[in-house]
Amino acid sequence: MPELPEVETVRKGLENRLASFRIKRIEVCREKTIASSGGSSEFIKMMKGAEVGKWYRRGKYLIASLHGQKHIQTSTSTQTSQSHGWWCVHLRMTGHFQWHKLASPACPHTRIRFWNQKGEELRFVDTRSFGQMWWIAPDNLPEEIIKGLKTLGPEPFSSTFNASYLKERLKGKTRSIKSSLLDQTLVAGAGNIYADESLFSAGISPKRESGKLKEEELALICNSLVKVLKISIGKGGTTFSDFRDLEGLNGNYGGQAWVYRRVNQPCRVCGTKIKREKIAGRSSHWCPKCQPE
Ligand SMILES: [Zn+2]
Repeated sequence: MPELPEVETVRKGLENRLASFRIKRIEVCREKTIASSGGSSEFIKMMKGAEVGKWYRRGKYLIASLHGQKHIQTSTSTQTSQSHGWWCVHLRMTGHFQWHKLASPACPHTRIRFWNQKGEELRFVDTRSFGQMWWIAPDNLPEEIIKGLKTLGPEPFSSTFNASYLKERLKGKTRSIKSSLLDQTLVAGAGNIYADESLFSAGISPKRESGKLKEEELALICNSLVKVLKISIGKGGTTFSDFRDLEGLNGNYGGQAWVYRRVNQPCRVCGTKIKREKIAGRSSHWCPKCQPE
């Protein structure tokens, strides 16, 4: 599943490829991929003719601003506006974008296709079909409409994500720290891979009780999560997911994983065999010596 670094890689790819991309035609191959009200007919009607602007990332959500002069019928008024609203995307398990400069046949897992004037195509392909897209009207903000965005915790890179914030939020919590780090309402964008890698880097067992961690341990977790995410972003995401960027390439963090998917292999620090166990329903990896319980 794409996590924060992979989604950030996709964001950069989209911004790069879609600079001044004006949407001439849209084909929705799977109705359910459109999550915004009005379904595909509203999505197509409102996005056609729009120029794609800047791409943002919030947690694992991708958000583009849409521009262009067009009469926009909103819930409250009809206006001639520069804004065409927002285009939001969540890749979920297997959603990914492909860039096709030349016309090519679409595979059976193609969900939505976008073309510009030159016939270049941005294609959204999703095997497992959990990926979602929204069109949000210009008089709303995406976080006012999309529930998952509304409840999202702070970005790991923001100043609000720090040890005292974690201390406050985890007070009295008996669940494991691994389980807490996967909670998107606590911190946005971390998933299984980066939770395991950052807990190794912090020297803290994934099984430790969240509410009993000391502030200095929480500071280590914050710093480690940020460090691990930054390294992975620099390398374009991980290899061990099915992740592909727009150009069909995957990242190379996989070769450098300290614990993730390294069960029974020697710890890169102390040589102890890496353990794996299900914690909070997710396969978790750790070194029992470097991360004592
Ligand atoms: Zn170790």
